[in-house]
Amino acid sequence: AASVEFKNVTKIYGKSTAPAVNDISLFIEAGKLVTLLGPSGCGKTTTLRMIAGLEMVTSGQILIGGADVTRLPATDRDVSMVFQSYALFPHMTVTQNVEYGLGFSGFGKKETTERARAGLELVGLSNFGDRLPSQLSGGQQQRVAVARALVLEPQVLLFDEPLSNLDAKLRRRVREEIREIQQKLGLTVVYVTHDQEEALAVSDRIIVMNNAVIAQDGTPRELYEQP
Ligand code: ADP
Ligand code: ADP
Repeated sequence: AASVEFKNVTKIYGKSTAPAVNDISLFIEAGKLVTLLGPSGCGKTTTLRMIAGLEMVTSGQILIGGADVTRLPATDRDVSMVFQSYALFPHMTVTQNVEYGLGFSGFGKKETTERARAGLELVGLSNFGDRLPSQLSGGQQQRVAVARALVLEPQVLLFDEPLSNLDAKLRRRVREEIREIQQKLGLTVVYVTHDQEEALAVSDRIIVMNNAVIAQDGTPRELYEQP
């Protein structure tokens, strides 16, 4: 797991005049689960995508594990991302879906098989490897997406509103599983949500964004409990 640092990062899209992210500096410790919380349009997803290298900064610097990755493309950063819509390949089995990214990362057949097996075990889906995504519940599909990101053993794991397609009961379960796995493996996780209750439940630290800047930053206790 690696730390993530922003030094005066600004992102201005295309011809827009207002920055989506405005001069943000932050340091995320390795091995922590940090939530970016805030209303729609405040810049959370843009922040996440800049960590992943899916958007390039307009100005400023991004460091992962102390190394400057500002100009590195997504493929050269040791980061994986779990999206809101889990985007599994419908014609591939669960195991094939999890193995898919490993092939591109240059792992051999044996290691690919072993990692996929371990990943599915971690999310409690060992018995589902031969099924197609359509034969799984929404919660199970989301767990496959988590496994697919985990098996790459990234330095940083990013979640963009991972639970928004699930009903309330499943949301609670899957977020608890994500938190358990994160703690068990000591992963650095940056987790985007607009749901305060969700942020309070899973985070070591919450960064509240508003209008492209950081409005508040602290542990759940510091932010939401009265002294
Ligand atoms: P959040 O994730 O908090 O909802 P975003 O980071 O998606 O916020 O968006 C921040 C701002 O940037 C919004 O004003 C949004 O309209 C704008 N924005 C996001 N993506 C793009 C894009 N690809 N092109 C232009 N503007 C964008
Ligand atoms: P979700 O991931 O949506 O929470 P569950 O884990 O509750 O789903 O299980 C969804 C369905 O799969 C249920 O019908 C359950 O009985 C079945 N199921 C759960 N675990 C196993 C398993 N190890 N082998 C076969 N079927 C299972």
